[in-house]
Amino acid sequence: MGQGLSCRTPDEHGLFTAVQFGDLEIVKTILERDPSLIQQRTVYDRHSALHIAAANGQIEILSILLENRSVNPDSLNRHKQTPLMLAAMHGKIACVEKLIEAGANVLMFDSLNGRTCLHYAAYYGHSDCLQTILSSARTSHVASSWGLSRFVNIRGGKGETPLHLAARQRRPECVHILLDSGALVCASTGGHGLPGSTPLHLAARGGSIDCIRELLAWGADRLHRDASGRIPYAVALKYKNGACAALLNPSSAEPLVWPSPLKFISELNQDAKALLEQALMEVNMEREKTILKNTGYSVASPSHSDTTAMDDNISEASDSQLCCICFDQLCAIEVQDCGHQMCAQCTLALCCHNKPNPTTAALPAPICPFCRSNIARLTVVKVKVNSADQDLDVYSSPKLRKSRKSQNLSEGSSSFRGLSAVPSFGKIGRGSGRVSVDIEIDKL
Ligand SMILES: [Zn+2]
Ligand SMILES: [Zn+2]
Repeated sequence: MGQGLSCRTPDEHGLFTAVQFGDLEIVKTILERDPSLIQQRTVYDRHSALHIAAANGQIEILSILLENRSVNPDSLNRHKQTPLMLAAMHGKIACVEKLIEAGANVLMFDSLNGRTCLHYAAYYGHSDCLQTILSSARTSHVASSWGLSRFVNIRGGKGETPLHLAARQRRPECVHILLDSGALVCASTGGHGLPGSTPLHLAARGGSIDCIRELLAWGADRLHRDASGRIPYAVALKYKNGACAALLNPSSAEPLVWPSPLKFISELNQDAKALLEQALMEVNMEREKTILKNTGYSVASPSHSDTTAMDDNISEASDSQLCCICFDQLCAIEVQDCGHQMCAQCTLALCCHNKPNPTTAALPAPICPFCRSNIARLTVVKVKVNSADQDLDVYSSPKLRKSRKSQNLSEGSSSFRGLSAVPSFGKIGRGSGRVSVDIEIDKL
């Protein structure tokens, strides 16, 4: 992958050079003079003008070329690469969109490594292109004929899925999108890289803590062995990725895993999901800090910049909306249809099984801890603020909450007290949230 796209081949008409540099008028003039030139190929790589426009992000020229009926959006170059693959490789999102709109096929394989446009987007870390290709697959014939999860887990010539490539190339955003779209976290490669590697092995080799965090949170197995018997920990040590090795060491604290029952709640509201993911990542990053402090490695400040968004949300709430399970965080998630509320961490804990089996995923659906009814939906709590509460909140609550939070996180090896709250649901009783408010006031 990654061959150059300059036109070092004879370009007697100047067409390819004009396309490459986006000279629209010259392209128009050349094609008006001799329309057959639109089928012209570069001598060695057999690129069409469409390939060159796609790779260079020349969206205007690409659009004009596609208007011509004789131009095949899936024309192949010497390596059977389509213009869509080249656009995905170079992160030219407008061209990716336009090609898909023009009917480009996302299910083509090149002859270099047997890879698709999805592999290209994942390998080069263009998450916007990756997302666009996935959404097109979701709505196109691919989903009905192939099934989306089969497409997401599509294999290259040596058994590599897009997730393997994203993990190896240190592309955490792509790792996240792929997992979220149904990529198998435990897939092992055939012959790609070290045979039998899982995405976690490849992330250990690539050395990206962000990728490792994503994979572990999705239930990647630290004890999975590749064909030569190595666990990801050994791979990280071999490639001298010390901080990664510390997190992958089977004897260090288990990460919190995104609960697979949540995947089965049919309408997991996007905002609720974002809140829960945020809570999970915060817990795991605290865990990382603890592990790394003990090993002498430091971790770069987290790439999640939206940490404050949740805090802002919550600080608008009053203390009367304190979570009745942990008495520590504010209610952020509402269970429907019953309407009971709790904080994001307790919601996670409720659904958390530390090690779900990612292949069977046969876990019972979570139920509301207050009334034991089935959870149909989880939504974000809509905050109602009255002026008295607001005052109280502004002056006392955030600090209070912070001190409690840090106290909370320093407890226990899993650094997640919410987990231990699960078995104690019985103690709270099956009354409504209202009843527990009294207890909450006592505690304050
Ligand atoms: Zn709670
Ligand atoms: Zn309920």
